[in-house]
Amino acid sequence: MNVMSNNIFTRDRTRRVVVGDVAIGGGAAISVQSMAKVPTTDVSAVLKQCEDVLRAGGDLFRISVPDESSAAALKEIVKNSPLPIIADIHFDYRLALLSLDAGVHKLRINPGNIGSPERVKIVAKEAAARSVPIRIGVNSGSLPEDIAEDENLSEVDAMVKAAEREISILEDAGFFDIVVSLKSSSPAVTIEANRKFAQKYNYPLHIGITESGFGEQGIVASAVGLTLILNEGIGDTVRVSLSEPPENEIRVAREILRFLKLRKYGARLISCPTCARSEGDIQQIAPKIFERIKNIAEPITVAVMGCVVNGPGEAKSADIGVACGKNQALIFKNGKPLRKIAIDDIVDELLCEIDDLITNR
Ligand code: SF4
Repeated sequence: MNVMSNNIFTRDRTRRVVVGDVAIGGGAAISVQSMAKVPTTDVSAVLKQCEDVLRAGGDLFRISVPDESSAAALKEIVKNSPLPIIADIHFDYRLALLSLDAGVHKLRINPGNIGSPERVKIVAKEAAARSVPIRIGVNSGSLPEDIAEDENLSEVDAMVKAAEREISILEDAGFFDIVVSLKSSSPAVTIEANRKFAQKYNYPLHIGITESGFGEQGIVASAVGLTLILNEGIGDTVRVSLSEPPENEIRVAREILRFLKLRKYGARLISCPTCARSEGDIQQIAPKIFERIKNIAEPITVAVMGCVVNGPGEAKSADIGVACGKNQALIFKNGKPLRKIAIDDIVDELLCEIDDLITNR
């Protein structure tokens, strides 16, 4: 159940499409995806990023196809990828056809630059023959010229119109395995565009705040925008766009869905902010523990607390935790003391207890 209560739409109302072995829409678990950030022709680098995304909890992996040599590399990538592959096509519909031949599981096309309706129809026919869905990826910064220059359209209406135009081309070709995204770098514009679209269509929505930036600004922009959209029952697959490695995008998306109780993911670390009572350097210890637990798939909560006086009690919701004392630290389980350990052994001893907990669950 969503932790928020004002869902306007129900997520099972959208059409379901299938990308490889991942369903999008129709009430399926909200999938998270990221994108390769290395040249597509560098197959081993692409596959390494794909593995990183998988380990971080990603479900889908997108790859830009800027030229024919990139399309040629897709075959090897698709063959060895642990995740379904989405080919991102701009400008040249023939690259979409080559990507389909390479076995990609989904296409993303941009209505601002993919070319004439006839070409889109050719792509739709080939995609339908392979049961490959198509995402119409509307970006406020690259709308079709006539729509972008129409002064009677607000930014939001222009984005929805660009999506509508492409949808009708696909529908006219008898193609309905459509996913749509309406993205802007402004959370407010993105929210409104998705809301307007969802009022008119039941195609599944890929949601994200584009060009969010990096670090805290990018994370907050994505978290605020995506939370408000998801809270209305909108959004079937999520991409967080950061100027950071792909697995960071997955981790942020994952945390947003986890906090909204829309998906369960692996280990979560909670740590206290510290205060004058703190007996340990939590700012040093917490990141070290996070590094060691971040890829644990089991949904457990681990606490790192600064003092034994309040730590175990304040973190009693955690499955396992450690609280720092003078020269020694205390490992606790569900808020109850377990054993004392040397301060220097905190990371290894806590990891040992986490292993034990997971094994005996
Ligand atoms: S757990 Fe202890 S050190 Fe951490 S914030 Fe609470 S009182 Fe302060």
